[in-house]
Amino acid sequence: MDPETFRRDLGAWLDANADELTPPYDGIASMNEQMAHYSLVKRALYDARFGRYGWPESVGGLGGSPLLRAIVGEEINFRGLADPNAWTMIEVLAPTVIELASPELSARLVPPFLRGDEMWCQGFSEPDAGSDLASLSCRAVKTDGGWVVSGQKVWTSFIQYSQRCVLLTRTGEPDSAHRGITALLVDVDSPGITYSPIETMHGRLDFAEVHYDEVFVPADRLIGEENGGWQVAMDILPYERSTTFWHRGALLHRRFSDLVAQLSDSGDLSELTAKTVGEVFLSLVAFRSRSRDTQYRLANGQQLGVETSIDKILITSAEQQLFEAVRDLLPGVVEFDEDPEATMWRTHYLYSKAASIYGGTAEIQRNIVARRLLDLGPES
Ligand SMILES: Cc1cc2nc3c(=O)[nH]c(=O)nc-3n(C[C@H](O)[C@H](O)[C@H](O)COP(=O)(O)OP(=O)(O)OC[C@H]3O[C@@H](n4cnc5c(N)ncnc54)[C@H](O)[C@@H]3O)c2cc1C
Repeated sequence: MDPETFRRDLGAWLDANADELTPPYDGIASMNEQMAHYSLVKRALYDARFGRYGWPESVGGLGGSPLLRAIVGEEINFRGLADPNAWTMIEVLAPTVIELASPELSARLVPPFLRGDEMWCQGFSEPDAGSDLASLSCRAVKTDGGWVVSGQKVWTSFIQYSQRCVLLTRTGEPDSAHRGITALLVDVDSPGITYSPIETMHGRLDFAEVHYDEVFVPADRLIGEENGGWQVAMDILPYERSTTFWHRGALLHRRFSDLVAQLSDSGDLSELTAKTVGEVFLSLVAFRSRSRDTQYRLANGQQLGVETSIDKILITSAEQQLFEAVRDLLPGVVEFDEDPEATMWRTHYLYSKAASIYGGTAEIQRNIVARRLLDLGPES
């Protein structure tokens, strides 16, 4: 399907169904409210077929270019119809599962995710393995018909709403680094999994500490090869740094427009304000130009890799610059005001600080660019 026709038809459908799809809040809501609304919008798009384009028919999709998925995410986020983090979990996890798990497994498990009936989460980070992911120690031991998993993960987003978790486990010797890691698709309601949500500084239970105590995982839940989990992680991370950010970028443009509208209403059109707003706009456009190119490379079947670290650096800078500008140009709105609009800005401001941590920290992204793209030598 031609992307422009698709966007036009989608836009018309979203307009016609705006009453049902628009959340009863704008940016501020409890996790429960956001997740309930996410499922509603995902299901409605699935039923109207728009949510199925860009996904393979083998998992309930209708085929077509991944650009169509980028357009759906962009329109949804630009209109503020869903929380971008929840919306994009499928973009982070499903492409790799479809590519590397058995066709039977993805045909069975991906469709409920696509319909919005399920959420999945990503169990990579551990208390002693974040940036240095290859040192992870959550162990999977082979047993009759599968694995037994024991260990701890942390910062697992959305686990309390999830049915499945893409879990990285240690299957090689403790010091086998990236060579001894295996990825498994685990049912979150398996006996032996317990979690305690952790509150973020913007007051939400976004993620959790998770304990795996002799959790049985059937053999058919393998993603990729045994001891080939590093490849799975390297396949997932570029998705996390590409399509998901295109969607998030749409939300940032929405908030940028809100800022400009608020400044116009207040009559603050000083030279300093204009300069700050202009710099934010340039950052947003720099990210968008880069990410647009990434979406086309993905659509053309190119393998994404370490170069997506550039996308991550650009969106992090743009997001933090935007909400720092909000703090400077709307004095007190982040620190003192209590009305719903101020709470919206405060939530964004605080969450923007996480942008230089999740999906690989700002320092790690710059290391990747320096070492892998610019060949500036090994880490000292
Ligand atoms: C909002 C949010 C959601 C998240 N969701 C998930 C999730 O769903 N699943 C999941 O698995 N994880 C998730 N994470 C965790 C995230 O992936 C890790 O926080 C991240 O990889 C950094 O790891 P760490 O926290 O252990 O920090 P560390 O790796 O301990 O880093 C601490 C500091 O040291 C710096 N540093 C470390 N190594 C180097 C180096 N070699 N050179 C220069 N500086 C270095 C880092 O840049 C950072 O500033 C989430 C994090 C956040 C904030």
